[in-house]
Amino acid sequence: MARTKVPKRKASRTAKAAKRTTAHRPRRSRAAVVPIEPVRGATRSDVGGVRLEIGRAGAARVKRVVYPAGFRWSVDMKPAVGTDLCMHGHVGFLASGAIRIEYPDGCALELVAPQVVAIEPGHDGAVIGDAPAVLIELDFEKATVERLGLPTAHRHV
Ligand SMILES: [Zn+2]
Repeated sequence: MARTKVPKRKASRTAKAAKRTTAHRPRRSRAAVVPIEPVRGATRSDVGGVRLEIGRAGAARVKRVVYPAGFRWSVDMKPAVGTDLCMHGHVGFLASGAIRIEYPDGCALELVAPQVVAIEPGHDGAVIGDAPAVLIELDFEKATVERLGLPTAHRHV
């Protein structure tokens, strides 16, 4: 290319095009670019930018949940779920990344991998930092809280 008269305009046009591309890319697809192997024996779905892989093991379900960087439950998941807070209990293992759990009384919990996780129903949650958070969970669907012996809500003993 001998034409060097308008490099700035060219560059800015390219930058604009790149911005446009980014803006049009749906936010929901971020989990899809996480470079990890699919879980064998699991069924995969994507909800609110979260990649969910669920397999049955005995009476339980084993799940790998990948939350993308920037994820916040009350922003990204709440519209799909319809409750004010996440009403699931979570028991498992944070395999990578970091998350912050917030209870409605103002208590917050920062969990950093590798870390055992027990989260009571009734919380908001967000990914901290630039990396996705990968959570390995066990659940019993609607009987999760009861069967895993979790409190039914966050409270102070
Ligand atoms: Zn509290």
